[in-house]
Amino acid sequence: MKASEVLSDLKRRFPNEPEYLQAVEEVITTIEDEYNKHPEFERYNLIERLCIPDRIFSFRISWVDDKGNVQNNMGYRIQHNNAIGPYKGGIRFHSSVNQSILKFLAFEQTFKNSLTTLPMGGGKGGSDFNPKGKSDMEVMRFCQAFLAELWRHIGPDTDVPAGDIGVGGREVGYMFGMYKKMAREHTGTFTGKGLEFGGSLVRPEATGYGNVYFLLNMLATRGIDIKGKKVAISGSGNVATYTAKKLLSLGAKVVTMSDSNGTIYVPEGISEEQLEYIFKLKNIYRGRIKEFAEEYGCEYFDGERPWKVKCDIAMPSATQNELDGDDARMLLENGVIAVSEGANMPSTPEAVHQFLAAKILYAPGKAANAGGVSVSGLEMSQNSEKISWSAEEVDAKLQSIMKNIHEQCVKYGIQEDGTVNYVKGANVAGFMKVAKAMMAQGII
Ligand code: NDP
Repeated sequence: MKASEVLSDLKRRFPNEPEYLQAVEEVITTIEDEYNKHPEFERYNLIERLCIPDRIFSFRISWVDDKGNVQNNMGYRIQHNNAIGPYKGGIRFHSSVNQSILKFLAFEQTFKNSLTTLPMGGGKGGSDFNPKGKSDMEVMRFCQAFLAELWRHIGPDTDVPAGDIGVGGREVGYMFGMYKKMAREHTGTFTGKGLEFGGSLVRPEATGYGNVYFLLNMLATRGIDIKGKKVAISGSGNVATYTAKKLLSLGAKVVTMSDSNGTIYVPEGISEEQLEYIFKLKNIYRGRIKEFAEEYGCEYFDGERPWKVKCDIAMPSATQNELDGDDARMLLENGVIAVSEGANMPSTPEAVHQFLAAKILYAPGKAANAGGVSVSGLEMSQNSEKISWSAEEVDAKLQSIMKNIHEQCVKYGIQEDGTVNYVKGANVAGFMKVAKAMMAQGII
């Protein structure tokens, strides 16, 4: 089948999976030219096999809350593609989780993991469990119930989950504990583990730091210095806070952060002390970003996203489709020079189209946020070798991986006018490696 035919066929077969179709459409339309240069790909119906996950597990998770009520959630694991290594990708706990969202994330993850140059396939999982307002014990019981089913599908050389929205060190710890008990082995089956039991230094920081390193590589192509630049960040979770931390250390000004209820605006830039407050607010007290505005008396946009403020750089780091065509227009009117995505697919197709047309520096998540899974890959290496590297060693490797991903994007995304289409670059580079591996392994 031709690439475009595969897309219309997938639309017919999965009409109720809009996020999955959105991610697939973006990739297929950007790799089509390259794909058509290889008639053998069509003969092997490679694109269809690459778009449809290898397998999907879905299951009921029953657990008991603190009041003694029995709760039921849905759990999923999408094993998308393991042509270049074991399935690898995070677990998301959020009330919005469904099969379409996890299929889009697993599909994206396959390309991202290919870009890292490390031997990792793509996968993703999660549940519609909402951790907000739950006690520690409830979260623990839920994680154990989730793993009671998931454990038989994962393993250090089979499928290695990690964190994502709603899943941080606490949840990974509980899930790893249950895995260890069920499988009766202490192996690197999860990444993002605590440092005491096989975690890697710099893993919590890696996605945010990696995004900033990617941004620095992009800015360097136009001779732009990050110092003094105003950066609008969305989210206030793992990716957002470590993005902000690295930016502050480089002299940039972080003017916004947000959560699902609203945005704080600090025109002079958030200080290190204020960022520390946000970190504690979100990770220890599990509060709302509004409380920051009350504490420091800054502006708060209730129920709004950050994109209307004047900034030089935007780094969406919350969730998918959080930056639409109108937001993109506002950012461009306000003179934004770069958008580097910490979240997965945060910009809608219309927003992406506008960024590309304006020829600003625009980095899609699958390239810019690949630092997280890269350090997860390094955690896997450390676990199998039973060693641990210093923070400096891991950070140096992370910087070098992000530089390499940037180079691959430039190689495949350079345009006639000398600008780089990072969307095309990332998709083609990620695709070619997986495609060659699949061709070599036959039709399976
Ligand atoms: P966290 O759970 O730590 O933080 C998520 C943040 O996004 C919170 O501030 C949350 O607000 C906000 N958010 C979540 N859903 C929505 C929504 N529907 N609307 C508005 N805001 C929302 O997750 P991470 O920081 O780990 O992940 C953020 C993004 O980065 C995701 O897209 C994830 O897939 C991606 N990513 C994460 C990686 C990692 O290593 N953690 C690696 C690569 C990508 P609230 O508290 O109100 O829910």
